[in-house]
Amino acid sequence: MANGFFSEDKVSEIRERSNILEVVSDYVTLKKAGKNHRGLCPFHSEKTPSFMVNEEKQIFHCFGCGAGGNVFTFLMKAGNLTFPQAVEELAKRYGIRLPSREPSPAQKREVEKKEVLFQINRIACDYFHDLLTRRREGEIGRRYLSQRGAKDEMIEEHRLGYAPDAWNGLVGHLQEKKVRLEFASELGLIFPKKKGGWYDAFRGRILFPIFDVHGRIVGFGGRLIGQGEPKYLNSPESTIYHKGEILYGLQAAKSSIQEKDSVMIAEGYFDLLALHQNGFKQSVATLGTALTPHHIRTLKRYTKNLVTLFDSDEAGAKANLRSLPLFLEEEVAAKAIFLPKGQDPDEFLRKGNSKEFERRAAGAVPLIDFFFEWLLKNHDMKSIEGKVKVAQEGLGMIGRIPNPIRRNFYKKALAERLNVPQSFLDEAPSSRKTGSFEEGKASKTEVLERLPRSEEMVVGLMLHHPEWIPTISETGILQEFENPALKRMADVLKDLFEKKGKLDISEAMGSVDDPVRDGLSRLLFQQSDPAAAGSPERILKDCIQSIRKKKLRRDEGELLKKIREAEGGQGGNGLDALLMKRQELARKTKGF
Ligand SMILES: [Zn+2]
Repeated sequence: MANGFFSEDKVSEIRERSNILEVVSDYVTLKKAGKNHRGLCPFHSEKTPSFMVNEEKQIFHCFGCGAGGNVFTFLMKAGNLTFPQAVEELAKRYGIRLPSREPSPAQKREVEKKEVLFQINRIACDYFHDLLTRRREGEIGRRYLSQRGAKDEMIEEHRLGYAPDAWNGLVGHLQEKKVRLEFASELGLIFPKKKGGWYDAFRGRILFPIFDVHGRIVGFGGRLIGQGEPKYLNSPESTIYHKGEILYGLQAAKSSIQEKDSVMIAEGYFDLLALHQNGFKQSVATLGTALTPHHIRTLKRYTKNLVTLFDSDEAGAKANLRSLPLFLEEEVAAKAIFLPKGQDPDEFLRKGNSKEFERRAAGAVPLIDFFFEWLLKNHDMKSIEGKVKVAQEGLGMIGRIPNPIRRNFYKKALAERLNVPQSFLDEAPSSRKTGSFEEGKASKTEVLERLPRSEEMVVGLMLHHPEWIPTISETGILQEFENPALKRMADVLKDLFEKKGKLDISEAMGSVDDPVRDGLSRLLFQQSDPAAAGSPERILKDCIQSIRKKKLRRDEGELLKKIREAEGGQGGNGLDALLMKRQELARKTKGF
């Protein structure tokens, strides 16, 4: 596990002091089941518990979705935390003191460069803003904005700017300010010329600086004033600008969002300006990118009441339907405001419909209801097949909801719309398989279940009898594994044992990547000690024999194929050598 922040000793101390049973119990109701504890998996939706925790080994595994790991991996997944955050959280919980973070030189350089990038954006923003508000050249921009109804106080608050239709405006200004132009180019403010030198990226445009929640400028959006393409030019992604994470206007909106305990999510720059200008300051905009889980998590920090305000057309309806599963997975009961067909918030509000807008906002529709309505409208409810489709698609969406109680209520609502008893839907095939998101997970488990038995037993031996790891490794059998996933697991266990002289299962879980970790945790819960019925020595010998036999059979099959090809060809394709090899193989096979 990548860990630039804490010493290995600290991480070990925290892992040893914390109890996975207590941590998981914050999220899952666990019941004792033999050596393990069992509950409903928090990572996928299920009706019968397949999520297991082993207190002795301090690990968990879900037999439904295949997730597994130790206390850190659980907390990272369940609480959406990074590794350092999970470490900090557990340290706090168990009263362990952490040394203050000392950034590495590389981290320091990274931070310093980011500071410079923010500064360059600030310089550019001031330059554009000054042009728009104080210079004669800015007249074109001022006229355009007043035509679009933007008031001066909005221009000030959102620091709007104007880039004249020239090639060397910003470049000249940045040179004067002694800015490193390669950095400005990284930010997409200027472009390199073919024969050396630079030119302005934004020309003849209104500039919208995009702020992060700390008030730093991460990028710009530029609206073309005259005719041409593209209508909007946006800063590219950079080390300081990640489109899926930034919401336009949040910095200006956040206190209103908290005050009103609600946020409206619009799409465009001018929608946002119109909303703020008309007193709906609790609004942000996604700026062309689809809503992301990161956006939702960011907004959830300020309020639980998220309301979409997308265009009232086909595209807007699609955007609503696309965002619904994200809201459900984040346990947000989002609503949607609908405007008259074909109108966006900017247009609607500019026509003086502020009161009507308020009325529509108060009547915002729960997105899940909108989805159900949409389902009913788009399927033939007079036919059984149509009803089946509605039930399936509806259950698929409901399956995204992590909380079982909430899921049940939505199921009830769907049953009412279909005019069938809820038990009708309970008998439907497990809803979690209908979503494409869960499909991926199901197939992953299936793949793991078809693992070669002997190789799996060897890994089991390594897990249950770590003291045998050196012996197992010396036989060279690990190199002969057929299954790459099991080979990775075995290699990881071997390396860990060699490094530490022991094997701490929970620790091992923290130092491997996802597929290996999930596989190991599954083996630990599923497989009893392979040597329980005999000595490890005996089991190992049997496994090695069976693995080698299988490998010989594979080799032989391949060789035969090559021989056939050589025979079918013009001869001289090394047929003799191949036949010799075959003889040798046959001799080896007899040895078993
Ligand atoms: Zn699961």
